[in-house]
Amino acid sequence: MSGSTARLQAINAVKSYEPPAKFFPPAEAPGEVFGENVFTKSKMQARLPKPVFKSLMATIEHSKTLDPTVADVVAAAMKDWAMEKGATHYAHVFYPLTGLTAEKHDSFLEPSGDGSSIAEFSGKTLIQGEPDASSFPNGGLRATFEARGYTGWDATSPAYILENPNGNTLCIPTVFVSMTGEALDHKTPLLRSQQAMAKQAERILKLFGHENPDAVVSFAGAEQEYFLIDRSFFLSRPDLLNSGRTLFGARPPKGQEFDDHYFGAIPERVLAFMLDAERELFKLGIPAKTRHNEVAPGQFELAPMFEKSNIAADHQQLLMVVLKRVAQKHGMECLFHEKPFEGINGSGKHVNFSLGNSTEGNLLLPGDTPHDNAQFLVFCAAVIRSVHKFGGLLRASVASATNDHRLGANEAPPAIISIFLGDQLTDVFDQIAKGGATSSKEKGALTIGVDTLPVLPTDPGDRNRTSPFAFTGNRFEFRAPGSLQSIASPMVTINTILADSLDYLATELESLVADGSDFNTAVEKVLEDVITTHGAVVYNGDGYTEEWKIEAEARGLPNLRTTLDAVPELIKPDAMELFSRYGVFTEREMHSRYDIALEHYVLSIGVEARLTLEIANTVILPAALRYQTELATNVSSLKAAGIEGDTTTLDEVTAAISSLRAGIAELREQLGHDHSESIHDEAEHAGTGFLPAMDAVRSAADVLETLVADDLWPLATYQEMLYML
Ligand code: ADP
Ligand code: MG
Repeated sequence: MSGSTARLQAINAVKSYEPPAKFFPPAEAPGEVFGENVFTKSKMQARLPKPVFKSLMATIEHSKTLDPTVADVVAAAMKDWAMEKGATHYAHVFYPLTGLTAEKHDSFLEPSGDGSSIAEFSGKTLIQGEPDASSFPNGGLRATFEARGYTGWDATSPAYILENPNGNTLCIPTVFVSMTGEALDHKTPLLRSQQAMAKQAERILKLFGHENPDAVVSFAGAEQEYFLIDRSFFLSRPDLLNSGRTLFGARPPKGQEFDDHYFGAIPERVLAFMLDAERELFKLGIPAKTRHNEVAPGQFELAPMFEKSNIAADHQQLLMVVLKRVAQKHGMECLFHEKPFEGINGSGKHVNFSLGNSTEGNLLLPGDTPHDNAQFLVFCAAVIRSVHKFGGLLRASVASATNDHRLGANEAPPAIISIFLGDQLTDVFDQIAKGGATSSKEKGALTIGVDTLPVLPTDPGDRNRTSPFAFTGNRFEFRAPGSLQSIASPMVTINTILADSLDYLATELESLVADGSDFNTAVEKVLEDVITTHGAVVYNGDGYTEEWKIEAEARGLPNLRTTLDAVPELIKPDAMELFSRYGVFTEREMHSRYDIALEHYVLSIGVEARLTLEIANTVILPAALRYQTELATNVSSLKAAGIEGDTTTLDEVTAAISSLRAGIAELREQLGHDHSESIHDEAEHAGTGFLPAMDAVRSAADVLETLVADDLWPLATYQEMLYML
């Protein structure tokens, strides 16, 4: 039996796939199911005594500290609601640094001593849990013998019910910390950074005359890109199955097919999947908008409405879980890897963010009046300064072995972090930089007092898809995050660097005013300072060009191409000082994140390297040898028959087999090296030893794919995976 059986079986399975009718969700208005499985504000209001509800709302909506005495009442109400919805278990859900979502399930039922059982869920169990934490990455924060880790209820993110054919579970979003209170997760720093940013934003708002402003929060809306392929193909390819991307695969003939796909209708089963997924997301209170994406065949995008960044981050994690599950139900696999297919556009997760509160609304919305504009410009200046000062940290916040395949590959923003402001806003800052003088046709030259700043349009009209950090009218869009990652770490970074800049601006303004300057002049002065000092980060041109790399270097902007270049930013003294100043990370926590990022890098490249070796040896080489034998037999039979055989193909195949063997030998050698001196050495070796050796194996294998007879080729091809849905 040839090694191509798995591939042929997969193709047949795809051809005979029929979507069961029951997978088309019933026709109901989205509003009818929205939030059905969420312990929403209105459910709390209906089920909680008034004072308890009020106290909880103060925490949820106005960032006040949780009063632990309400926990018992909330827990009881939550349990009753959940059990009415068929839940038998509850789970503290947390976000460990694996980037995945973790849950520890416990039953509501406890033995009552007389042989029966009673449903128990106390405030204490709501507030705190103790999962065995030993197998989650901690970067040295916890010795293995101190396996303890604690989960703690995050009341600001709503509890929900996860449905499962085997029983429903009440899920409670939690933070995850070590015994000493150090963060082992993504949520803890997000909440801390949110608090730090809010404090500084409040100072700015007060300076602008808002007496008692409501707590400022950051909002995030993440656009999720993903691929769908038939699950039979997914299961037939050990590389996709184990590493999430194809480690082999010749590119399909370019051109027409791509365009055909783009303009073609969404395949019926994809549509069924989307409707089904959307409905599941709605039930969980995730405001999803689904639509077909435009980039690569088999690639799609889902952009939920923006929410408070903490909730958006939780929802984003849940969204990935739901998409994966629903795709499997529809016989497909949802791929979140940044680059599942070499040579085909990859996937990202654009994070749109803004700041605001209930009284002021969106603080990144240019207002209609000059006074609002001044406040907007101060917040905007804070973003500019932050991105300029801490571009390296932003880059580090999206660094991973998988995202390295995408950043800087002329399909995603370059690794150089710059800001796109659009023509209008750039012009305003240019004027400010020139000392506030402007030439306005009607008024002639005038000084930009705050009161005379131009009215800004909310829609800047122009867009720049090549910029990593773009102003888009009422928000900034950070386009570098990878499709696989949690949006928490970019949001932690954004909140923290904004805290720093808002702090700086507030202090400057306060001291200028204290020195007798009037407020408008003070604002003008700080805006001018910021744009003069940090304007180098503003770039509206094409980020994909070689010229930009040269210019960016001249401007002093770092180009941290790979994870190996980017991750060390985390432990630079400036970075550690910044994060500890705002109580987001201690130095130990920063070191642990650095270690974990590198461990993760080593682990994922290591898995890929071993897979490459195994697939090359056991799947590709045998197929190539079979074909080579066929060709050799053909040549010798011809010779025996007295015909001068043509050995061109045989020679080509033989040459490609030699390259494959050389590649395999090199990769094996690289894998044999022991570089365990330090995690940094190991990472360095993975990046500079494994990756090039894997590339060499792949190149030879991909040449063979174009030579070996199709009926012998063992791996599902790009053409099949991308077009057969
Ligand atoms: P585009 O493709 O034009 O960038 P999308 O509609 O795909 O826009 O996605 C825009 C994302 O930005 C959505 O998630 C949306 O909810 C979010 N968004 C819109 N306004 C804001 C805002 N003020 N703050 C944060 N996110 C926002
Ligand atoms: Mg976008």
